[in-house]
Amino acid sequence: MNEFVETLLDLEWHEPQRSYDVVIIGGGGHGLATAYYLATRHGMSSVAVIEADYIGSGNTGRNTTIIRANYGIPESVRFYQHSLELYSTLEEETGFPIMHSTKGLIWLAHTEAALRAERARALMNQACGAGTVMIGPDEVAELCPQLDLTGGGRYPVLGASYHPGAATARHDRVVWAYAQGAMRRGVDVLPHLPVTALLRDGGRVTGVQTADGPISAGVVLSAVGGNVTTVGAMADLRLPIRTHPLQALVTNQYSQGFGPIVSDSELLCYVSQTARGQMLMGAEFDSQPSYSRASSFEFLQSVAAKMTHLLPFLRDLRVLRTWAGICDISPDYSPIMGFTGVDGLLITTGWGTWGFKAIPAGGEAMAQMIATGTPPPLIAPFALDRFARDHAMADQGSAGTR
Ligand SMILES: Cc1cc2nc3c(=O)[nH]c(=O)nc-3n(C[C@H](O)[C@H](O)[C@H](O)COP(=O)(O)OP(=O)(O)OC[C@H]3O[C@@H](n4cnc5c(N)ncnc54)[C@H](O)[C@@H]3O)c2cc1C
Repeated sequence: MNEFVETLLDLEWHEPQRSYDVVIIGGGGHGLATAYYLATRHGMSSVAVIEADYIGSGNTGRNTTIIRANYGIPESVRFYQHSLELYSTLEEETGFPIMHSTKGLIWLAHTEAALRAERARALMNQACGAGTVMIGPDEVAELCPQLDLTGGGRYPVLGASYHPGAATARHDRVVWAYAQGAMRRGVDVLPHLPVTALLRDGGRVTGVQTADGPISAGVVLSAVGGNVTTVGAMADLRLPIRTHPLQALVTNQYSQGFGPIVSDSELLCYVSQTARGQMLMGAEFDSQPSYSRASSFEFLQSVAAKMTHLLPFLRDLRVLRTWAGICDISPDYSPIMGFTGVDGLLITTGWGTWGFKAIPAGGEAMAQMIATGTPPPLIAPFALDRFARDHAMADQGSAGTR
């Protein structure tokens, strides 16, 4: 038995109590990280994380594990840079191996317009504390010798932005790092217990209804990924979120030595190599809103065509597995964190295709907000009421989608 499993065997799983100070709906990365930071940073352990399925069964256990801070607006760069830094010490802090690996990320440009966009990104990143630089084709080739710089004759590489701090971490281990850290400090993690309704007293949310009965709470936080509009509707709250599937695939093993994460700002696809040597790829989300987790042949065909133009060796590999998650996409492609206008109900949502990298900073900030009743400056710009105030945090170009 490996060390990873052994450290989990002594965890104590409890039956639900009838009341907690804080109930978090959703045992994905954001829900568990918030619980962990409530316990570790604020000494709050009357906290339950209620998960419909097994923990990490949502997008957190389905993503392509990329951590980066090279966003396009100052508020996001600062937020994701902080998250990137928290990730780099998470293993040390939790004592749990998350297989964190700094790889660097190359964002390829094939046209002058894309080069200009990447240059603007690099300058913005530098101004806000995230290291991103422009590199030419020769440096791209040095970092990733497997790339065909002609792009199969169709997509020549004119240059790229390079973000050396980008990393990956094993997603299910991140889930368990936070879960075990929270549970050891008295948080109850309650899997296989769907929340079916919110308890209300007048306009205030006072708890949740589950198959095991009602559970009352001082504060309820919704951290349910693509299901957020369903939970919002339980409090008659209409949210500016659409749920779209996002697919990914892995191939069989390729010899180790594919160093960086390679992303493409125009073809909207990306690839990295896992610790096992598999090539892990993704693309933009499906345009049709849906709760379906089915993979499609169209996705496979489109990613394969784009990727083999850039990386011809991929033609000799086999696709082992494809899968999908359901993503909570906001109108401005930025997260929504904080108050909802419904007393007693907070949300962390709008994590779309980009929320794995945000788990440490999002969890830490939401914990601070719950403990103090005030949004910390790092997340204040991401409040839900920004849409009513015409203060959208538009950053579609950083989300790797059209
Ligand atoms: C294929 C794919 C690739 C991705 N790649 C990346 C990437 O490389 N980098 C990156 O930063 N992000 C990536 N993402 C996005 C990232 O995975 C998500 O934004 C992030 O995991 C969201 O975490 P979460 O905790 O908010 O939601 P989730 O992990 O989805 O957790 C929500 C949980 O709530 C539970 N739940 C729902 N309804 C209820 C209910 N009524 N009662 C109780 N529980 C409920 C669900 O079962 C689920 O476990 C990717 C996503 C996908 C699908």
